[in-house]
Amino acid sequence: MPKIYLLDVTNRDGVQTAKLGLSKLEKTLINIYLNEMGVFQSEFGFPTTRHETLYLQANLDLAEMGVLHPIRLEGWLRAIASDVETAFKLVPNLRHLNLSISTSDQMINGKFQGRKKRDDIINDMVEAVDAARSLGAKTIGVNAEDASRTDLDFLIKFGLAAKEHGADRLRYCDTLGYDNPFTIYEANRALAENIGIAIEQHCHGDLGMAVANSIAGAKGAIDGGQDAYINTTVNGIGERAGNADLVAVILALTKSKRFAEKYQLAGSIDLSKAWKIAKFASYAFGVPIPINQPGVGANAFAHESGIHADGVLKDPENYELYGFEELGRGEPEFVETGREIIAGQYSGISGFSHVMGQIEVSFANREEANEVLELVRYANVESHKPLVEDELLFIAKYPKIAKKLLTLAPLE
Ligand SMILES: [Zn+2]
Repeated sequence: MPKIYLLDVTNRDGVQTAKLGLSKLEKTLINIYLNEMGVFQSEFGFPTTRHETLYLQANLDLAEMGVLHPIRLEGWLRAIASDVETAFKLVPNLRHLNLSISTSDQMINGKFQGRKKRDDIINDMVEAVDAARSLGAKTIGVNAEDASRTDLDFLIKFGLAAKEHGADRLRYCDTLGYDNPFTIYEANRALAENIGIAIEQHCHGDLGMAVANSIAGAKGAIDGGQDAYINTTVNGIGERAGNADLVAVILALTKSKRFAEKYQLAGSIDLSKAWKIAKFASYAFGVPIPINQPGVGANAFAHESGIHADGVLKDPENYELYGFEELGRGEPEFVETGREIIAGQYSGISGFSHVMGQIEVSFANREEANEVLELVRYANVESHKPLVEDELLFIAKYPKIAKKLLTLAPLE
């Protein structure tokens, strides 16, 4: 039986969102949390973008060290052979790619203004796939941008050409959030049946259906006999109205009426990491979690009205579909209400040693402490806010990797 894989795109779609971004250290922490949670793949960045190079290399180093394992790290780029060459030049040990190109007539005509026709789109894509294969890609996903407004017969032709050239997955991008669960089910089923390749569901929330469309599309791919790869982002952060929220997708897949009887996640997901990753992404992006967010919102387990409170006290299952403990909630949080010493870009060794002592990190000597402090200063210069405990611990544990992440000098 084909399965559902989670492919998180927070570090690509999430960070390319207007007005929002993450530091390279924050992106790294997101990868670490996704890995701890059991997410299959992280679309971890842009291999042709110069300021990403050292971050991508450092994260691949972490994968080699077993820190980012078993998660698969995959880079996003345009389906253009020269971009693939640039990507491998900048990040030689890149092994997993998604290559993106617009497939709808609206975008082919609207973006290329007559310079490209449908056949040119397929030619560009297969050239990029060939280049990726010859340069050492292990897995390749081919993204059909605006797939939901693309003629289905053309999309099948596009997918078949991709498969013939060795692509492993076709990403069905509902770029504008135009689909509904019924249309995306039909499209994904037809693609799976006619192409015979795993289908990715990339859904946006412009009509409020990103999560519903994701699971309907996954059902279509599986009913068509192929694996499904649902694209998610932490807290649903993404272009415009956002992407399918990671935690909500997991809840929908595992808790909704009868869905998991037939359609199952590959591997095991540790939902108890949900609270931690949602809180961190909220802090790092500077975007509060909505009070009514599934699972992790402040009201997700709050009851006030008489009948509900009475009911939930007698038996939580009266008014709750799942328990807060399952999402890693319930532990009291420590908030400093008195004097605070913070490690930042202008910190000195005394304050820094105090902060690190509080999280039980000690240094062999003053030299080592100074080295880590210097990295913490740079991390703070990039993020403009106090580092969280896990960031400080990461820098203290992997100073060489941290140095690579924090090196942002433009490359030759
Ligand atoms: Zn998107």
